[in-house]
Amino acid sequence: SLLLDGKIAVISGAASLRGIGMATARMFAAQGAKVAILDLDETAASEAAAQLGEGHRGYACNVTDKESCVAAVGRVVAEFGGIDILINNAGITQPVKTLDIDPASWDRILDVNLRGVLYLSQAVLPHLQKRGGGSIACMSSVSAQRGGGILGGPHYSAAKAGVLGLAKAMAREFGIDGIRVNCVTPGLIQTDINAGKISPEKTTEILAGIPLNRLGEPKDVAGAFLFLASDLSSYITGAVIDVNGGMLI
Ligand code: NAD
Repeated sequence: SLLLDGKIAVISGAASLRGIGMATARMFAAQGAKVAILDLDETAASEAAAQLGEGHRGYACNVTDKESCVAAVGRVVAEFGGIDILINNAGITQPVKTLDIDPASWDRILDVNLRGVLYLSQAVLPHLQKRGGGSIACMSSVSAQRGGGILGGPHYSAAKAGVLGLAKAMAREFGIDGIRVNCVTPGLIQTDINAGKISPEKTTEILAGIPLNRLGEPKDVAGAFLFLASDLSSYITGAVIDVNGGMLI
């Protein structure tokens, strides 16, 4: 049987067609979920949802804006009847060094990657409680673990490390409600966030540090989200799954 049969899943930052969010949406839809794609632009989100087939929807949502999160989640619940799964995937990066981080760039990176996880979770959690349980999975990064990724700056590392702490705190607080909260920490995944930004020489250098000897694909991360969203992970909460080809071994 299908792993997410009849489940209602909200995925943020999933309108980018080659992104991790959309790959996750595709896998979830194939496993029987009804998917609500949340992203900055309603048209882009709706067009992405249409690619999943019948019964999936796209909604405008800026995760840095609490009211926008509440409004989008309200529309999802009105149209789908509830929520079982939240994937906090929306994120942005900026490849700068510590001394180049100005207040505005710090705020921007922290707002989308960290505050956004709080706001969208706050909007969804009461609905998971109403269902008697659910699963939240949050997007962190190997940048949080290594103190720097390939393209993320120190503020990005800080934000993604913050996601780990926030997710574990929510896992502790909402376990009693049957709500599990986990994280994934991807390595370098080929999406628009880094497309064309890494030279062939740099790629060779990066691959030397990856035992599986390839960059990640969005579906590699989607598989981890599927595991965390489904009952296969029913006794797993507060966990962090590395999806990095062995980069940290
Ligand atoms: P992507 O750029 O394709 O996807 C990011 C999506 O987030 C876009 O659709 C964008 O419109 C959306 N978004 C940006 N700001 C938003 C906001 N304020 N509100 C709602 N949506 C917003 O890139 P991706 O690589 O698929 O990134 C997905 C997530 O994975 C991000 O959180 C990123 O930091 C994380 N990540 C990526 C990699 C990688 O190597 N690609 C590695 C580790 C973690």
